[in-house]
Amino acid sequence: MKKPKIKYCRLGLSNRYENYIEINQKLKRKKYKKLRNYIIKHEEGHTLNEFDLFHEFKIPPRIIPRLLWFIITTPETWIDFFPIQYKNKKLIYDSNMLILYIMIIAIIFGYYLII
Ligand SMILES: [Zn+2]
Repeated sequence: MKKPKIKYCRLGLSNRYENYIEINQKLKRKKYKKLRNYIIKHEEGHTLNEFDLFHEFKIPPRIIPRLLWFIITTPETWIDFFPIQYKNKKLIYDSNMLILYIMIIAIIFGYYLII
């Protein structure tokens, strides 16, 4: 498969599109080289048509502190954690995120019903 092109964006952490990968422009910085390489690899690993929630959790443990730190210190990336976004004048939703949120709500709700 052909490697997708990399584009840098101001908002969001990273996204996979049909022909390209979009990653946050702050990842261009030298100090984020390792993290950037990981994110690119992760996005390349996304299959576009399939439902691949599990892929989101295949984060190597050694990269987690670096990734969390980048997300916490870069508020522009938080937009990627909303299940519904308004981007390029279009309302788009992330089915993986949507399912994740429904699961969390269901767990909280289920827990509330039990006690
Ligand atoms: Zn992903």
